[in-house]
Amino acid sequence: MATSGKSTAVSHVGKIRVNNQDSGYAGTQLFIVADGMGGHAGGDVASAIALKRMMEADRKYASAADAEFALQSALGAANTMLAETVFEHPELTGMGTTVSAILRSGSQVAIAHIGDSRIYLLRAGTLSQITADHTFVQRLVDSGRITPEEAAVHPRRSVLMRVLGDVDATPEIDTTVFDVLPGDRWLLCSDGLSSYVSDVKISQVLTAQTAVKDAADRLVKESLDQGAPDNVTVVIVDIDDTEESASSPVMVVGSASAPLTFESESGRRPLRLPSLLLHPLKSTQAHEDSHFEPESDEYLDELIAEDRRRARRRRITWLVGIAVIAALVVAALFIGYRWSQSLFYVGANGQTVAIYRGIQQDLGPISLHSVYSETSVQLDSLPSYTRRTVEDTIGATTLADAQAIITRLTEASR
Ligand code: CA
Repeated sequence: MATSGKSTAVSHVGKIRVNNQDSGYAGTQLFIVADGMGGHAGGDVASAIALKRMMEADRKYASAADAEFALQSALGAANTMLAETVFEHPELTGMGTTVSAILRSGSQVAIAHIGDSRIYLLRAGTLSQITADHTFVQRLVDSGRITPEEAAVHPRRSVLMRVLGDVDATPEIDTTVFDVLPGDRWLLCSDGLSSYVSDVKISQVLTAQTAVKDAADRLVKESLDQGAPDNVTVVIVDIDDTEESASSPVMVVGSASAPLTFESESGRRPLRLPSLLLHPLKSTQAHEDSHFEPESDEYLDELIAEDRRRARRRRITWLVGIAVIAALVVAALFIGYRWSQSLFYVGANGQTVAIYRGIQQDLGPISLHSVYSETSVQLDSLPSYTRRTVEDTIGATTLADAQAIITRLTEASR
């Protein structure tokens, strides 16, 4: 099996966004994806700051438990650093970032995760999502309010309940330790991949492309083929029987790969402000990208209530549609009935001939005809052919036509 390396990182701005707010890292022991968001163009700063702080944890640890603790500490430190940055630069208020990271230690990995970036494991041909999204819709799925299929198209699917940022001094971070096996392929990605490329497709690409670089490029291309409305970042790590991935060069991609024009320690003005003033659209767009909602019971209740209101509005729209269609059907039936009652025909009524109003057909239980007037013409007084014609009914359109037919029948009767 020819592989060009054991790990790789690729990041793409996508086809719609003006800047890349994602950051990715493929190190020796540590692998990270961070997806920044919010504030006034703070998303790229947030993911870069968090990733750079996290990178300091890329070392060997005595045990996976130590590695797990190191990840937890690094995330806590990154969170503090983001809060300090916002304190010094209030224009960045509201910025935040997801972080999903794995740190190898022997035959195990420590995993840390907050937000909606994802970690997948391809093992023996089966792809599993290892992390759970910290999203509003995942909450709804977990509580049985909506199905995973509904979540995938939910209007609030990008709303995050937890991120690293300036909102919470002690954000709730998921950490775990996982046994690895030679042949495992780990994928870390931002939602720019997982929201637009299905797990089935991801699995196919990871299985078909042997080289990590080819697999990562292919996954990014799959997202671009879907229109890539978001930044896309992919980090892939192959586990072989050696205990580290040092043979691959360390890679930093996305916003963290650009020089950080921003020093939280120094008091100098951030260099990005003038560019913001030059590109007012950028700040507007970045602000709209701010999908983070702080996790609190009241807020969650409010979101759920809003969701219910939306469902109710959908139901009302649906009912109004049904009512309009029903009204049209009733109107059409009424017009049809009125039209049928303007017609006449001649037919048999027992043993005599009668003029009928309406048409001979019935509409379900509704009779569309009634005897308009009896005549003295007896059926058995008519020649047999004429009699059969009367029994089959003779259409008349107008009352005068019907009366003319009766006159002829009277003459024909014996
Ligand atoms: Ca994203």
